[in-house]
Amino acid sequence: MRPSIQFFDSLSQKKQNLVAIDPNHLKFYVCGLTVYDRPHLGNARSVVVYDLFYRIFRVFFDKLTYVRNITDVDDKINNSAKEQGISITQLTAKITEFFHQDTDALNVLRPDFEPKATENIDEMIKMIENLIKKGHAYENSGHVLFDVSSFKDYGCLSNRNLEEMIAGARIEVANYKKNPLDFVLWKPADDQDDQSSKFASPWGMGRPGWHIECSAMSSKYLGENFDIHGGGADLQFPHHENEIAQSICANNSHKFANYWIHNGFLTVNGEKMSKSLKNFITVRDLLDQGISGSVIRLLFLTTHYRKPLDFNDKALEDAKKSIAKFYENLSDDLFLNYDEVEQVFKNLDFSNDEDYYLKQAIKFLADDCNVAKVIALLHEVSKISKKDANVKRQLALILSFLGLFDKDLLKKQANPVNQIDQNYIEQQINLRLEAKKNKDYQLADQIRQDLLKKGILLEDVAGGKTNFTFVK
Ligand SMILES: [Zn+2]
Repeated sequence: MRPSIQFFDSLSQKKQNLVAIDPNHLKFYVCGLTVYDRPHLGNARSVVVYDLFYRIFRVFFDKLTYVRNITDVDDKINNSAKEQGISITQLTAKITEFFHQDTDALNVLRPDFEPKATENIDEMIKMIENLIKKGHAYENSGHVLFDVSSFKDYGCLSNRNLEEMIAGARIEVANYKKNPLDFVLWKPADDQDDQSSKFASPWGMGRPGWHIECSAMSSKYLGENFDIHGGGADLQFPHHENEIAQSICANNSHKFANYWIHNGFLTVNGEKMSKSLKNFITVRDLLDQGISGSVIRLLFLTTHYRKPLDFNDKALEDAKKSIAKFYENLSDDLFLNYDEVEQVFKNLDFSNDEDYYLKQAIKFLADDCNVAKVIALLHEVSKISKKDANVKRQLALILSFLGLFDKDLLKKQANPVNQIDQNYIEQQINLRLEAKKNKDYQLADQIRQDLLKKGILLEDVAGGKTNFTFVK
C-alpha cells in the first residue's frame, strides 16, 4: 500500500499524519534568507532540508505551492551596505544572486514563489492597519507595535509562559512599548538611511518589522489558513510565535499554518558557528575547496533534520566516501532530468513487487524524512548493483530523487587524474614558490598540505622546480 506522509509537528508536539486542507493541493511556506551575507552552512542546511520535503510532497500531491521568501529589508542589510559602501539594492541583488548560485550547486529546486519583502510592502501596511483597527496594535513615537496581551494564545507554538519568553528572548526594552514582549510591526527610518530601505506609510517613512513580512507574504500566496510552515528551530520563538499572533489577529481565520516543521541547528567542530569564533563557513568556501555540492548535500541529509548537525572533517570525509561508493557502478547514461525522475516515483504501483527499492525509499522518506534508512538502503543496493542493471537503475533513481546524482562528479571519479584542473595545480605550485622566495614557509607548507589533502603530492626537484604526482 502506498504510504501516507508522517512527520513531527512542532505545534502539537506529536508525529502527525499529513492531512491537507485541499487533498489535491498542498500549501507550504518556509522562511527564507535575509540577504545581507553569503549563505553559511546553517542557512544551507535549512534550505536542503525543505528541498527534500518539497520533493517528497510533490510525489504525493498533484499540485503543490511552495513559497520561500527573501528578506531584503532589515537592519543587518542597512549596516552591511554601509560597511561595504554600496547601496542596499546593490547589496541585496548581489547576495540574492550568490544565494541562487550556492543553492543551485547544492542541487536545490527553486520554490514556486520566491517573494521579496520590498515588493510586498503594501500587503504589510494593510495587515498592520487591520491589526490597529481590531485593537491588536498601537502606534507610539513613529513605531507600530503588536500588543501581545491582546492575544490569549501567545506562546502556543513554543509552549512557554510569559516569564520564560521574556527571559529567553533578547527582548529590546524600549520606552515606546507597553509590554516588553510587544514587538515591532513598523519602525521609523533614519534620515541617513538609503532611499531604497524606506517606504511611505500612514505612520511616516519607515520599514516593516521582520515578523510581519512572513505573515503578509504567506497569506498573499497561500491564503490565511494553509498547510505547513517550516523554518529553523531558532526561529520558533519569537519569529514564528509572532507570525501566528499577527496572522490570526489580522485575518478572519482562526488558524494560521496547520502544521509546523522545524529543523535543527548546525555546529562546526561542536561549537556554535559565529563570526567571532572564526568558524563561520559558507557554502562557497567549501565549493572553492573543490568539494562537490552533492557531498555537502549528503552531509546535510545524513543527520536527521530535527537533530543538531555537527560539521567536521570526519563528517565531510564520510560523505565523500559514501558518494564514491554509490557512484562506483553507475554510468552517466543512467542520469535522467528531475521531471523524469519525479514521474517514476509518482507512478509507483504499490500493489506489485516491481521497483522494490524505490518503494522502500519512499516509505522511509514518508516516515518523518528518515534519510538514515534510505542511506543504509543505498549502501545495500550499491553492493549488489554491479551485475544487475535493474538494481543499478533503481540506485541511480534514488540518488537523483535525493538530489545526489551529479554527472560531472561521476565523470571526475571515473577519471581521477583529471579530477583537479592542471592549471589550478600549476597556480598553487607558483604561489608556493613565491611564498618560499618571500621566506613565508608557513604559507608554503600550508599550500603543500592542502594539495596533499586533495591527493596531490609535491616534490621539489633540481633547478628550483616542483613536480606533482597523484597519490590517490
Ligand atoms: Zn518567517
